Amino acid sequence: MMQQILRNEEDTKRFAQHFAHQNPTGSIWLSGDLGAGKTTFTRYLLLALGHTGAVKSPTYTLVEPYCIDGKSVYHADLYRLNDPEELDFIGFFEYFDEPNALVIIEWASRADGILPKPDWLIHIDRLDDDSRQIRLTKG
Ligand code: ADP
Ligand code: MG
Repeated sequence: MMQQILRNEEDTKRFAQHFAHQNPTGSIWLSGDLGAGKTTFTRYLLLALGHTGAVKSPTYTLVEPYCIDGKSVYHADLYRLNDPEELDFIGFFEYFDEPNALVIIEWASRADGILPKPDWLIHIDRLDDDSRQIRLTKG
């Protein structure tokens, strides 16, 4: 387990860049309260992986797909998932069979019983001074 204090967004960006250097594949579960910084971290991770365009929050679409240098990266936010069957309808489980793909999941707790186990768990806590404590665990 790795634990770090991110004093500001610049620190979060650096952490995302460091993480991107490992060329992550498989899936990442991001946990933490609303506003903790899950989407912000994902945005910096996508940029660090080489994405150049906008990064939309997938709150309403469940998933935003990206293709970065030929690598598929899926950013999911399951906060509004009502019925786990919705994931089947959109072909969500096929992402995990794609070699070299990365699936980043906010609010995986909404579907944890039916998702494959993650390769990384990242938990973010917002502290009283507005800094963030991030905990990275290998799944
Ligand atoms: P979540 O996806 O967890 O609900 P967001 O990433 O959407 O959270 O929002 C996090 C908010 O906190 C953003 O407004 C961001 O600018 C702010 N913020 C402040 N400090 C940090 C930090 N160190 N890391 C990430 N976000 C931060
Ligand atoms: Mg979010």
